[in-house]
Amino acid sequence: MSTACKEAQAVTVGLGGRAYEIRIGAGLLAEAADCMLAHLDFLDATPRPRAAIITDRNVARLYLDELESSLNAAGIAHETRILPPGEATKSFAHYHQLSEWLLERRFERGDFIIAFGGGVIGDLAGFAAATLRRGMRFVQIPTTLLAQVDSSVGGKTGINSTHGKNLIGAFHQPSLVIADTSVLDTLPRRELLAGYAEVVKYGLLGDAAFFAWLEDNGARVLAGDGQALARAIRTCCEMKSAIVARDERESGVRALLNLGHTFGHALEAALGYDGTLLHGEAVAIGMVQALRFSAREGLCPAECASRAEAHLSALGLPVDTSAIRDRLPGAEALAAIMAQDKKAKGGKLVFILARGIGEAFIAEDVPARRVEDFLRGELERDG
Ligand code: ADP
Ligand code: ZN
Repeated sequence: MSTACKEAQAVTVGLGGRAYEIRIGAGLLAEAADCMLAHLDFLDATPRPRAAIITDRNVARLYLDELESSLNAAGIAHETRILPPGEATKSFAHYHQLSEWLLERRFERGDFIIAFGGGVIGDLAGFAAATLRRGMRFVQIPTTLLAQVDSSVGGKTGINSTHGKNLIGAFHQPSLVIADTSVLDTLPRRELLAGYAEVVKYGLLGDAAFFAWLEDNGARVLAGDGQALARAIRTCCEMKSAIVARDERESGVRALLNLGHTFGHALEAALGYDGTLLHGEAVAIGMVQALRFSAREGLCPAECASRAEAHLSALGLPVDTSAIRDRLPGAEALAAIMAQDKKAKGGKLVFILARGIGEAFIAEDVPARRVEDFLRGELERDG
């Protein structure tokens, strides 16, 4: 095994026969193919399986040469499909074109896909892998912080519909995840910060000590300190993989990962997903709202919400709706959006609330009216 791959931090996602490794470290990209040869038994077959690299224009411009050179040196044949960056790429049209391209280039069931990019590429390429020839193997090389800590772990893949985001998809686990922290150097600051919100989510939902570590080290993580980044990413991946191993298909505990997401999605949806808020920014506001709501319901001390708010806002994330207040509908409409959320069950809303930092729980029967009253108060305060 190459040095960078050997020295990388490792997390094993324990899913029995579908268990896989996440390797995390600086400089892994240059040795990506060695890492694959060390971890993917199927590459020993003759003829050796070919790789279909799916990426976007930004990632290709910066890093495709490095990945291709590594594959060339290791004798892994490959072809590359470069897609436009942005959420619009997670569409039926792109999924269709990509599938036809893979078939036209004669990718077989025994070949494999490399999803090389952020969450958009991971979700689309993963979904193509899940469905092409009834399922191909795939390797994730996530290049955004968000994708490294969240979307590349756990096997959710999919595309958007005109009816909503991620409504068409499949659970399909990758065979290997290679997270190179060095590629985050070129990520726009705002994207990095948005990904950081999901990092904070892990502390808030289940690990108070990690949250405290982030309070002390968050600035180092955001400054691109390789060790701090690798430690943060590893902790998130460990937590997510432990949760996914217990509940792969989100029938229970996996819902905890949605902390801040019901409130956050409502804001994103109310703004028509127009990019005013990045997903992670909406989650930052959503987490603070979930904690403030928890405090208002008497479930956790108010200090718990204000501590989360202080940390997120110190690092530059939005924590309330004041900047977007003019563009939001009223509390009633926001609550109605939440009720339509695919996680709503019956008339009651399913929320992730908290009893303290690191102590989130699933609240199955939150009356929609109490949420609406709460939101009314928030909107008045922010307006
Ligand atoms: P997410 O992972 O947040 O869902 P996307 O896949 O939409 O994000 O990626 C966010 C943006 O960042 C896209 O424009 C993408 O091309 C770009 N991008 C992804 N990775 C990198 C990187 N390592 N350096 C610079 N830009 C990147
Ligand atoms: Zn999220």
